[in-house]
Amino acid sequence: MDTALDTLNYRKLYESGELEKRIEKAYKLLENCSLCPRRCGVNRRKGETGFCKSGEELEVSSFHSHFGEEPPISGYGGSGTIFLTHCNLRCLFCQNYPISHLGNGNKISTQELTQMMLSLQKRGCHNINLVTPTHFIPQILSGFSQAVERGLNIPLVYNCSGYENVETLQLLEGIVDIYMPDLKYGTREAGEKYSSAPDYFEIAKKAMKEMHRQVGDLRLNKEGIAQRGLLVRHLVLPNGQAGTRRVFAFLAEEISSHTYISIMSQYFPAYKAQEFKELNRRITRQEYQQALDIVKQLGLERGWRQIN
Ligand code: SF4
Repeated sequence: MDTALDTLNYRKLYESGELEKRIEKAYKLLENCSLCPRRCGVNRRKGETGFCKSGEELEVSSFHSHFGEEPPISGYGGSGTIFLTHCNLRCLFCQNYPISHLGNGNKISTQELTQMMLSLQKRGCHNINLVTPTHFIPQILSGFSQAVERGLNIPLVYNCSGYENVETLQLLEGIVDIYMPDLKYGTREAGEKYSSAPDYFEIAKKAMKEMHRQVGDLRLNKEGIAQRGLLVRHLVLPNGQAGTRRVFAFLAEEISSHTYISIMSQYFPAYKAQEFKELNRRITRQEYQQALDIVKQLGLERGWRQIN
């Protein structure tokens, strides 16, 4: 990937024809699906489905102005959130399991996605926030390209689980302005037990490095609204199950001590979490405080903490 593209925004990619080439490459990946690290190898263009249960058609659960994201993302005008149906990680404690596991949502055309993006921009949203987009990248890029043609000019936020292929992320260079991944687990055991992804941490570490290479640390405008960069979310799990120290140590030592991190306290035992004794409660105030202490010890003081 040409690193000179770093300096181009998505409109330039659109005007040069590069965006169209990326869309073609992304659709090619659907024929033997390797969009994400699951590498199911199914032909989604022929209606076959893999782990994420998604076919060729785009599926969306909802879209709206969201005021509950981190302050630099929601700002005063809201974040233009589009929830994609299904998920390539499918954590067993997912709060959004009706969307991620059960597939609640509607099939829509790429033209309808274009309309959603433009309507969110018109409402005054600061960005287009794609929630769980990984398994629909080709279709999203197609709708996005039409939106750019019709005047879309706000940052694109890629709000994902962190379980991403570097090669797929490279298709997004110069297109995505803000990467907002989760970094869920710092151990192989947790990835395997709760998300059927024993390689989660290893894969997510490579993905974070690629995201940071593309966009750098989070930069805000004078109003405190995010313009470009990396924002990493970490949900603290009960009984140390998220491997919080390992997650934050990686960010401090291998990404940047200026990484903007969002430390989330809202865990509750949703969906199948009750089947796991160690996950079957909310976190305590002490557990959240321990996570705050770790980031302080590691010198990671940029980001957002929740009042527990
Ligand atoms: S996007 Fe879906 S079908 Fe494709 S590799 Fe990932 S889980 Fe499998």
